Amino acid sequence: MPLLVACAGLLGLLVGSFLNVVIHRLPLMMEREWRAQCRALLADAGAATAEPAEAAAFNLLVPRSACPACKAQIRARHNIPLLGWLWLRGRCADCGAAIPVRYPVIEGLTGVVTALLVWRFGYTADAAAAIVVSWALIALTMIDLDHQLLPDSITVPLLWAGLLFHLLAQPDAVPGPFAASLADGVIGAITGYLSLWLVYHGFRLATGKEGMGYGDFKLLAALLAWLGYQMFLPVLLLSATTGAVTGIALIALGRHGRKEPIPFGPYLAAAGFIAMVWGEPLLAALPFLRVFPPAG
Ligand SMILES: [Zn+2]
Repeated sequence: MPLLVACAGLLGLLVGSFLNVVIHRLPLMMEREWRAQCRALLADAGAATAEPAEAAAFNLLVPRSACPACKAQIRARHNIPLLGWLWLRGRCADCGAAIPVRYPVIEGLTGVVTALLVWRFGYTADAAAAIVVSWALIALTMIDLDHQLLPDSITVPLLWAGLLFHLLAQPDAVPGPFAASLADGVIGAITGYLSLWLVYHGFRLATGKEGMGYGDFKLLAALLAWLGYQMFLPVLLLSATTGAVTGIALIALGRHGRKEPIPFGPYLAAAGFIAMVWGEPLLAALPFLRVFPPAG
């Protein structure tokens, strides 16, 4: 078991390194796509487009990672998760520009989370699925913090994957994080999407402002597709309280304007992760959250 946990941690470090690429490039890829669409639309309307189309390929694999300051390619030995950054003491090998500490932090976090899930759920299909879900949540959290954006290309497949998991999964002898049935997942996805959709439109009608985005609805739908509708209240209360406390603290500390929108995705992701790993103990400790009978 300790060996398995260690291997999971190493795998997590490698995947964390890839998540850094996803977090950095996926929003840029979306922006390129939007620009291309706008150009096509303007060309259709007969307007002259100022910008030429970007020619060079740009996706999660191409081009190779390079220093943003001096454009030198990162050498393979410096690309080793955590160690590469420590070896270089957080500086580019070519020009000495600082490499943000968030890169090794995300690698380390992904490693720790992956190891934690194997330690908690063992060598099971539930553990493997929980690991993939948590990788998606880490990427979504960082992209939402950076760009106030939860890409459909992550949230929507995450939702379908949850329903597919319940469709294929054998009923568990041991209750795991995804003990919910397919029906629980389908009802969860609908409940998650509709609840925030209603809050959004209610808030918009009442105040004329937009409090959150459609990505938040899709993320909650995806989380509850995995966890079942039974986790609706725990996830919603955990995310709303942590979101409110953090928001008030940031405003009080003057770190955040009252009018600026606060991304809700990171709180949903954190609440979903807590519900996934400690959902049952949480419900046992706080029975008022158990509105519905246990899943399974
Ligand atoms: Zn450099």
